[in-house]
Amino acid sequence: MRRFGWVGAAALAVALPWLPFLPPFWITLANYIGIASVVAIGLVVLTGVGGMTSFGQASFMGFGAYTTAILSTQWGISPWLTLPASLAVAGIAAWLIGQVTLRLSGHYLAVGTIAWSVALYYTFANLDFFGRNDGISGIPPLAIGGFRFIDPRATFAVVWIGVLASVLATRNLLDSRAGRAIRALSGGSVAAASFGVNTARARSLAFVHAAVLAGFAGWLYAHMQRSVNPTPFGLNASIEYLLMAVVGGAAHIPGAIIGAALVTVVNDQLQDLLPRLLGQSGNFETIVFGIVLVATLQAAPRGIWPLLARARPRHRDIQPDAPPLPHRALPTPNLTGGEVLDVRGLSKNFGGLAAVSDLGFTLASGEIVGLIGPNGAGKSTTFNLLTGVAEPSGGEIRFLGRSLAGLPARAIARLGIARSFQHVKLVPAMPVIENVAIGAHLRGHAGAIAALLRLDRAEEARLFAESARQLARVGLAEHADRPATELALGQQRIVEIARALALDPVALLLDEPAAGLRHAEKQALATLLRQLRADGVAVLLVEHDMDFVMTLADRLVVMDFGTRLAEGRPHDVRENPAVIEAYLGAPG
Ligand code: ADP
Ligand code: MG
Repeated sequence: MRRFGWVGAAALAVALPWLPFLPPFWITLANYIGIASVVAIGLVVLTGVGGMTSFGQASFMGFGAYTTAILSTQWGISPWLTLPASLAVAGIAAWLIGQVTLRLSGHYLAVGTIAWSVALYYTFANLDFFGRNDGISGIPPLAIGGFRFIDPRATFAVVWIGVLASVLATRNLLDSRAGRAIRALSGGSVAAASFGVNTARARSLAFVHAAVLAGFAGWLYAHMQRSVNPTPFGLNASIEYLLMAVVGGAAHIPGAIIGAALVTVVNDQLQDLLPRLLGQSGNFETIVFGIVLVATLQAAPRGIWPLLARARPRHRDIQPDAPPLPHRALPTPNLTGGEVLDVRGLSKNFGGLAAVSDLGFTLASGEIVGLIGPNGAGKSTTFNLLTGVAEPSGGEIRFLGRSLAGLPARAIARLGIARSFQHVKLVPAMPVIENVAIGAHLRGHAGAIAALLRLDRAEEARLFAESARQLARVGLAEHADRPATELALGQQRIVEIARALALDPVALLLDEPAAGLRHAEKQALATLLRQLRADGVAVLLVEHDMDFVMTLADRLVVMDFGTRLAEGRPHDVRENPAVIEAYLGAPG
């Protein structure tokens, strides 16, 4: 697309249908494919990237279609002027429905979308305002000057330029700070929230973007069809759009178009063929589609597109000269009482289990504290409490002098606590450098509108220059463009450290960072942590490799069964009989 250019593609959309050998029937079919593509492209963002399944996209198409139908027939408003209204109605409806539905997750969300999809269908079908089952007819065609877009070959240009615009808008959104927030959802909302992503807003944005595209498709449909009725906006249609996205490859924009083409053509052929084969009429194609969906998910769970295009990671150009992001002033290193983190009486119960119980310790800037203890001692739970991922059952956490009580994870991230996870939580398919950029989320500001209009390029350059710097700092610069899952697990842990550093942390909480690393890699990690300490970062380190933690930590806090067993300098802790018994084994 880059070489050919968007203008070239648009020119093709205008000229192509006028080639003499193209039968009009196929041009009409191509127009339906284009409209379906727009809906399916929305599902790429919502379902493929955001991980939310919607059985309600046709309803939003209905909002767009009925809006322009009513405005253009009853109010006589020009279709071009109703376009913003159609988009707005679909978007606002999605925002409102999303406020309620998006609190559900997984299958519950899917069921929720079915519920309002059915409800909206009957609303369209039963209210006089929407013309009941007959719908609204006499919708004017699109027109420019005296030229009316009635010939399918003319409509083709509008539809497919509309597809191009949808592709462009969606690509711009996904390749932005707001888009990364949506993509971060598939790395788990815990990780996203821990780097300041407002996960509720990211989900809502994906939902609204998909709905606005569906509303756009509805607008196109209304003026191409020149009449609307409830049927094309019902649950069956929604299922077909989902099928298109899934069959094509739900996480990829070209997949949406391929899926739309395939399902539309097959649907059309089956509607002719099946009744003839079976000798009776009926919606048999629905049954076939059900089978196709299940078969696709079995044979190619990621859809057709990844089979066609072996994902070649796109190289991201980094602008090292981009003005550096502002850097947080770190508290002066101070080992005699200037704590950044002060934990007192902290506890966490899971049912009857006291995972953390009356735990207290401090962490100062320019200090490395090792938090050690046997498996199940409560170390990771402590991390979750410190970062707002879990809520304490009791006790107090003070960070830079203020209590963290009641703050959500993203607010704590904003204060400067960054972490890595014992069980790696990266976005698997996303390039390493973009995973790191999620860490810098709070250091940028651009929103979705800026992304759509590409007004965010300067800020993006700065965020990525910073991400590249942090990646180079941990020694993984050469892997920047590879999908995170391609790296060895030990390297993925290091990517997590780069992501944490991209937050510009005051305190860095690392959960078993050296697990799975080779000796030389551990040495490099130790050097990095010493450097961070010298820079004034406060480091809390959970680690099972005793040699590693003993040589690195200024102090150790030993946990067992949720409580603090001992605390002190590594040498003293090593001699502590209780510690020896609980954890280190007999002295050797
Ligand atoms: P560590 O990181 O020191 O190995 P954890 O903090 O992961 O220990 O776990 C401490 C204890 O709390 C374990 O017994 C674990 O099974 C339990 N635990 C941790 N998370 C949960 C949870 N979400 N629900 C119930 N129990 C949990
Ligand atoms: Mg753990």
